[in-house]
Amino acid sequence: MTRGNPCQLPGMLPNYDPNDNEAGMKILEDLTENVEQIQQRVFEEIITRNARTDYLKGFLDGQFDKQVFKKTVPVVNYEDIKPYIERIANGDSSNIISAEPIIELLTSSGTSGGQPKMMPSTAEDLHRKTFFYNLLVPVMNKYVDGLDEGKAMYLLFVKPETKTPSGLMARPVLTSYYKSNNFQNRPFNRFNVFTSPDETILCSDSKQSMYCQLLCGLVQRQEVLRVGAVFASAFLRAIKFLEDNWKELCSNIRTGHVSDWITDPGCRKVVSLVLNKPKPELADLIEHECSSKSWERIIKKLWPRTKYIEVIVTGSMAQYVSTLEYYSGGLPLVSTMYASSECYFGINFKPLSKPWDVSYTLIPNMAYFEFLPVKEKNEDGAQYVQCNGVCKENCMEKETEKEDVETVELVDVKLGQYYELVVTTFTGLYRYRVGDILMVTGFHNKAPQFRFVHRRNVVLSIDTDKTSEEDLLKAVTKAKVIVESLGILLIEYTSYADTSSIPGHYVLFWELTSKGNNHLPVLDPKIMEQCCSTVEESLDSVYRRCRRKDNSIGPLEIRVVQHGTFDALMDFCVSQGSSVNQYKTPRCIKSGEAINILDSRVVTRFFSQKAPFWELV
Ligand code: AMP
Repeated sequence: MTRGNPCQLPGMLPNYDPNDNEAGMKILEDLTENVEQIQQRVFEEIITRNARTDYLKGFLDGQFDKQVFKKTVPVVNYEDIKPYIERIANGDSSNIISAEPIIELLTSSGTSGGQPKMMPSTAEDLHRKTFFYNLLVPVMNKYVDGLDEGKAMYLLFVKPETKTPSGLMARPVLTSYYKSNNFQNRPFNRFNVFTSPDETILCSDSKQSMYCQLLCGLVQRQEVLRVGAVFASAFLRAIKFLEDNWKELCSNIRTGHVSDWITDPGCRKVVSLVLNKPKPELADLIEHECSSKSWERIIKKLWPRTKYIEVIVTGSMAQYVSTLEYYSGGLPLVSTMYASSECYFGINFKPLSKPWDVSYTLIPNMAYFEFLPVKEKNEDGAQYVQCNGVCKENCMEKETEKEDVETVELVDVKLGQYYELVVTTFTGLYRYRVGDILMVTGFHNKAPQFRFVHRRNVVLSIDTDKTSEEDLLKAVTKAKVIVESLGILLIEYTSYADTSSIPGHYVLFWELTSKGNNHLPVLDPKIMEQCCSTVEESLDSVYRRCRRKDNSIGPLEIRVVQHGTFDALMDFCVSQGSSVNQYKTPRCIKSGEAINILDSRVVTRFFSQKAPFWELV
């Protein structure tokens, strides 16, 4: 998939034929053997190119030395660089942070003040991404034979995009990539042939896109060797869509005619070509499998040659592993890569390892990496890790002291230690805290490998939403005003992400009491539903988009629990090793046992009756 004029690629991105596995593996060996030198080169290249930007000039004063850089350039959060990003969004020259022109802003699923964060991107960075994607191919080929003997049913989607006041495109990183020349004019790669025509991936109507991609995948079922989506949540959404729409899909296959509601001209054209002619036997077969009472192993039944499912199942996506295993009948779940809007980071060199064993090797020519040491927190079963000298309390803590934060280089990280990732990118981020906590699990040659532990500050996540304890508190505070005005007090609350059905949804457990008499009050369903809606309205724009536009999150639920439920929860946490003195009600529950304790004491349940407001800004 290497694109464009290779001569324009910087030397940092070796050029090779992506069909050539040996060449790909050789590059990976070179990159992982020479980590120190490559990181030094990356550092020098970024700094020499960008030393004259307003941002760096202020700190470096013409000096290019790494020690000076580390001493003078601060480790920053998004809020620190937001003013620069906003200036660029409003028309200031991009060279305030980057010597290379910033051609678009990538909207991240992390939010700031309720709005998505925006990360700078340059033309050259698309080539870096292409280089990274190409490296995934030889790794997969090393473990799975014959991937050139069929196709991949990857369900890929674009999301809505907008323009900043200065006319820059603002859109998610994958939308940007799929719409780029690098993706659309990719050279043929026999190991990477998709069942979805590009027109169906690029269709902005997500329902038409999903329908058409599934239709193409079903028609080509005998050719499909692997299925997937970027995240597990998106793939399961597709399975649910199939459950809801298989009859119509089969009817289209039977008649050879695409449903009339598929109005996107590009989609209609390419899907008609794939459908080609009536295929009644194929329709019968699919109908037979889909009408079975149980959908266990449905993936194997519909796509019988499938060797694995390619979806990210690490981090918050781990909650979907058992559901995927049910539908796939235990096919390997492959998390190939670890990436973000800021930068693409790492590759899983053992793609067939179990989800909980997955580690990513950071690719040293992607960015200059630093690591903030973080200490494991013993108190509550190591669900979180405590930032040693970074966060005061634990990783839920928002701000950090910026002074005296010593980072460690990529080659100096220690086995078994936890770190927060900090990146200096080619696109104008300097010593930027990504917010991810990683643990070193081993080394590939000299390159460390990391397990994704969790994201700092995130307690709830269903899809790409990332809700922090603070966001949740704010939202609950707004909603509790409603019951308080009726003489009802919210004594305690906690939450969990319920993914037992698709789409998953947020659940809040509330312990309520009447002011004065300490009894469980009589609750008006309308009022409680309004509380659910108020919480949803108060959550950030990514949550509201997932809930309203993408339908990837279901209606928020409040479960009212009996008096004494939170005491029982405390007893349980203490029995698990929490200290009584320091006990704080966890604002998010992950342990199945703890959820059972709460669930067994539920008195009534209420659901939000309307999707929250969301608009593209
Ligand atoms: P975004 O900036 O919206 O693209 O989100 C990037 C974030 O998604 C990363 O910083 C991680 O927190 C998470 N993420 C991306 N890839 C993985 C992965 N393979 N495993 C776990 N989390 C991931």
